[in-house]
Amino acid sequence: MAESVSVVVPVYNNAATLKELADRLGEVLSHSAGSYEVVFVNDGSRDASGEVLRELSRNNQSIKVLTLSRNFGQHPAICAGFEHATGDLIVLMDADLQDLPEHIPLFMEELRKGESDIVYCTKNRDDKRLSSRFTSALYHLVFSKLIGTDVPLNIGTFRMFNRTFLEALLQFREVNILYGPLMFYMGFRSSFIDLPYTERESGGSSYTFSKRLKLAVNSLISYTDVPHKISIAVGSALLVGSILYSLIVVVEYILFGAALPGGNTLILLGLFLTLGSIMMFLGVIGSYVFRVYQEVLSRPRYLVREKINL
Ligand code: UDP
Ligand code: MG
Repeated sequence: MAESVSVVVPVYNNAATLKELADRLGEVLSHSAGSYEVVFVNDGSRDASGEVLRELSRNNQSIKVLTLSRNFGQHPAICAGFEHATGDLIVLMDADLQDLPEHIPLFMEELRKGESDIVYCTKNRDDKRLSSRFTSALYHLVFSKLIGTDVPLNIGTFRMFNRTFLEALLQFREVNILYGPLMFYMGFRSSFIDLPYTERESGGSSYTFSKRLKLAVNSLISYTDVPHKISIAVGSALLVGSILYSLIVVVEYILFGAALPGGNTLILLGLFLTLGSIMMFLGVIGSYVFRVYQEVLSRPRYLVREKINL
């Protein structure tokens, strides 16, 4: 029962909810954790979040604040928080009170069973906007494909994990870090708890459709080889199609004395032949570039969960 807990919260324009969040976290954690700290990462907020955090940290040593020099985005902000978290158990949650502090003991209980290193949550919501439903479906499709296992569609950012997992996570030094796909990629023992979906209390999402789409495209490009496979597939289909067509035309000419195509048909045929081969080889080049990219990431080759007699 004596674990220390670090809560990492990225903050971008959440002035309205920060005080209540900090109070409720304090209330919950002072009962359920041995000791705790809340690491707020102010990701270049344009509202009063900075002042609110300064005020909160003045009266409470457990509240730590990292202020980034500008808005870097949710994931870089989370990274900063993780690098400064000192607890045995780490919680990641949003600042807008859509993740309830009161749920932290549920994650803890699950972790304490000792059967998992990370506990995720699933949240069911049915009133989601079509656009965000599309982007999140796309996003999940990407990493389900990547990991080769079924990642639940309604998974939330709210999660809790142990120090072993955190240390493995910190070994990933890539600049364009995306924690959603990465944490699944890392493996370890995971479990899920189901939480009710809570409406946001104030303001809207800090994500616009385009920001979210960018995120999805980003993970599609950096985590999968889908884009250049499309190029190879379309290119070779064009190439094979036009070669087949040419063959048919020539065979018809030789066997049945049919007229050879001329004019536009010939030009189009030549065009498809060249386009097809160019697209296909661009895709091939793409797959080499993808490999180079993977090497540049210089990811750890393996991650250790446990060592015995070592
Ligand atoms: N966030 C951030 N930087 C950004 C955008 C968002 O740190 O550029 C934080 C935000 O403060 C919140 C979390 O990321 O704690 C999730 O954002 P939000 O609640 O707006 O997203 P949604 O709930 O719609 O997924
Ligand atoms: Mg939110």
